[in-house]
Amino acid sequence: AEAQLRQVQKMEAVGQLTGGIAHDFNNMLAVVVGGLDLARRRIDGPRRELLGHLTNAMEGATRAAALTRRLLSFARSEPLLPERVDANELIGSMRELLDRTLGESIVIDYRLDEAPWPVFVDSHQFENALLNLALNARDAMSGKGKLTVRSRNVRLAAGEIGDIRAGEYLRIAVSDTGVGMTDEVRERAFEPFFTTKEVGKGTGLGLSQIFGFAHQSGGEIGIESILGEGTTVSIYLPRTEVEEDKVHVHPASAAMAEE
Ligand code: ADP
Repeated sequence: AEAQLRQVQKMEAVGQLTGGIAHDFNNMLAVVVGGLDLARRRIDGPRRELLGHLTNAMEGATRAAALTRRLLSFARSEPLLPERVDANELIGSMRELLDRTLGESIVIDYRLDEAPWPVFVDSHQFENALLNLALNARDAMSGKGKLTVRSRNVRLAAGEIGDIRAGEYLRIAVSDTGVGMTDEVRERAFEPFFTTKEVGKGTGLGLSQIFGFAHQSGGEIGIESILGEGTTVSIYLPRTEVEEDKVHVHPASAAMAEE
């Protein structure tokens, strides 16, 4: 029954994506059809022009194929398995991975709250969220700059950020010194498949998945960005009410303990 429920939730998520995908897919098909139609009419025209129309059509088809692949891998993705973890400890345990992934020309400044902050989340999703934010920051800084990872508990009023309920939250903020976002990009950044990156480089799923993660965990996500100066993405997570005896220290040490 639990597996069925998860399957239903997964299909719901896929369903929610479908509207956006249909729209994007249609745009890509329009490029393919348009390119082929022009090529057909100019079949006796100059070769360079013909080649241009065919290249356009091919690019549209390539994008559409990539979109389908992403949708399939998203539909197959693992269900959520929430557990009690200490958020500050989990972030701390990611330091080595983040340092290694971002390389030497990006300095990472960690300012993490020392106090435990138990949350009830899917820890793989949590780790993926942090990694994704760091990779977005790297792309925004074209490989060079400063990344700051902060965590601190904050008291929020109802609706202060998105649909948040009043209460105490851990704010996890990832800031970069990158290109920043225009208002339009900031407003659309959480849309599934919205990307400003080249074909093959961006999936447009990173922030939408983090949005889903934050909401499913009872929290919120917010973006502050100044064009040309940098971006801060903040995830807000509430403390969990789940009892102490269900504590998993953090996923890596829990996995070791099971062996
Ligand atoms: P992707 O990174 O695959 O494009 P995301 O959903 O993670 O997908 O991001 C969507 C878009 O939001 C990006 O294409 C980019 O335009 C913008 N964006 C995300 N993070 C940042 C950032 N740190 N700085 C500037 N722009 C960003």
